[in-house]
Amino acid sequence: MNELVYLDHNATTRPCAEAVEEMLGSLQAVWANPSSTHAPGQAARRALVDARARVAAFLGCQGAELVFTSGATEANHMAVLGALELGSPQGRRRLVLSAVEHPGMLALAARLKAQGVAVDLIPVNAQGQLDLDAARSLIRDDVALVSVMGANNETGVLMPTADLAVLAHAVGSPLHVDATQLVGKTALRFDASGADLWSVSAHKVHGPKGIGALIVRKGLAWPALFSGRQERQRRGGTENMPGILGFAAAAERAGLTLARDLTHMRHLQARLEAGLCAALPEVHLYGAQADRLPNTSCLRFGVLDAEQVLGKLERAGVIASSGAACAAGGTLPSHVLTAMGEDAVHAKASVRLSLGRDTGVDEIDRVIAATVQALGPLLESTRAPADSVAA
Ligand code: PMP
Repeated sequence: MNELVYLDHNATTRPCAEAVEEMLGSLQAVWANPSSTHAPGQAARRALVDARARVAAFLGCQGAELVFTSGATEANHMAVLGALELGSPQGRRRLVLSAVEHPGMLALAARLKAQGVAVDLIPVNAQGQLDLDAARSLIRDDVALVSVMGANNETGVLMPTADLAVLAHAVGSPLHVDATQLVGKTALRFDASGADLWSVSAHKVHGPKGIGALIVRKGLAWPALFSGRQERQRRGGTENMPGILGFAAAAERAGLTLARDLTHMRHLQARLEAGLCAALPEVHLYGAQADRLPNTSCLRFGVLDAEQVLGKLERAGVIASSGAACAAGGTLPSHVLTAMGEDAVHAKASVRLSLGRDTGVDEIDRVIAATVQALGPLLESTRAPADSVAA
């Protein structure tokens, strides 16, 4: 059998050679504590300052606006809990999120709701696009934070964050964008986004896992989630130096070819979707009418259950996923597709194919052929004979 084709880049990406090399080197070269005043500590401090500048240059923010965290989940918690801490004394104890946020974010919102925080979810339409009219009526002056993802991890549908920034700012609320899926997949930069806070994660852009950041717009004093002196008192704990240096190397590498990678992925996405839809009439593409990331295709093959489809695809050499990776293994319908109005059967049938900058045209052609071969007979058996359709 041919080598496996990995089409699960929204779950995670393979660390690039530059990141691996810099991380391995850092374990030998800058192992000292960057808070120490002795020479080895100061060498580590210099490496940290340099890495911060490299990550900031890629994301479009200032070094001082970056708070390194253990990833986007932590950054999301810091944004939400910090906003409530800041807003509560002024009577702002309401959160406005979208209905299709990452499961970790929705779970945090549910916990807070149980503690008395008001939580409103902005609905999406059948294409997965945010309902801006609903947003307009939910974003009022008792809101502590408006938090919406930049792009949905399951469907790739882009969210209107510039419009939300205007709405949030009009009522004195900050806007937080979970930008985890934007980075490396769009040209949008923090400084041009209109948002006040961005969550990012290195492992979605060929960096290591366990490192990410919350970008906090200059001038906003944001409370820490973990108290301590590091990160200008905004995130205590000795810095994850291998992670931060790996993130810097991955960011620098991603920045070198970003424009070319976006065009490349967009081309492959079109080829994949056109190829599958032409060969299998039962293929349904979610968010087909919406602006989407150039790498994400959320598909349904008739009503074949996602678990069955993924098993068949993997045996045919194609690695994909169903819904959010964090929910894989379970049989819960996707909350994203449910919010888009799909019933439980359809919402359990969605499969996500997410390409990477290193995916090749030959791989896409192999995926199309393998999928048609693996699923074609199954789908064919569900097709009604032509004369019974006419009857
Ligand atoms: N938000 C979104 C939109 C994501 O896709 C993910 C990763 N699945 C996360 C947050 C969590 O990121 P991390 O793994 O860095 O905690």
